[in-house]
Amino acid sequence: MSHKKPHLPTKICATCDRSFTWRKRWAACWESVRYCSEACRRRVSQAERTRTKDRPSRQGNARRSPSEEEWNDALAKKGITPDGLREQLKRGTMIKAFVENEVVSKIEITDAQAKAFYDEHPEAFSKPESMRASRILIGVDSGAGAEASA
Ligand SMILES: [Zn+2]
Repeated sequence: MSHKKPHLPTKICATCDRSFTWRKRWAACWESVRYCSEACRRRVSQAERTRTKDRPSRQGNARRSPSEEEWNDALAKKGITPDGLREQLKRGTMIKAFVENEVVSKIEITDAQAKAFYDEHPEAFSKPESMRASRILIGVDSGAGAEASA
C-alpha cells in the first residue's frame, strides 16, 4: 500500500481538448477513455447519435407521397371514385367561393356604411325608439298577449 502519489498518465479530452489525469474508476478501461468527464462523453455521444439518427430513420419509415394508383386505390376502398372526388371538391370550392363572395361580402359592413346608416336612420339609435323596438320584440318573442290585451 503506497501513499506516494505515482506519476499518473494523462490524456487529452476529445471533446474539450483539456488534458485529464488517470483516475481509479478508469483503471479497467483507461485505454479506451477519451473524455475528461461524463459531460464531455455525453456531449459527444449525443452529437454522434443525432448525426447517425437522421440516416437510418429516413430510410426506415420511407415517407413518400402515395402514387396516383395508390391514391385511387385508397379512394376506391372508401367508395369514392377520382371523378366523384374531383366533382365534390369542385362543388365544395364553388360553394365556398359563393359563400365568400355572395354572403360574407354582403354581411361585412364597413365603417362608412355604418355611418351612412346612422345618418339615414338616427331614430334607430335614439333611446326611446330602441326601447320601444325591444319591447315590441320581447312581446313577439314571448308570444304572451296577456300584457298587451290588458
Ligand atoms: Zn472534456
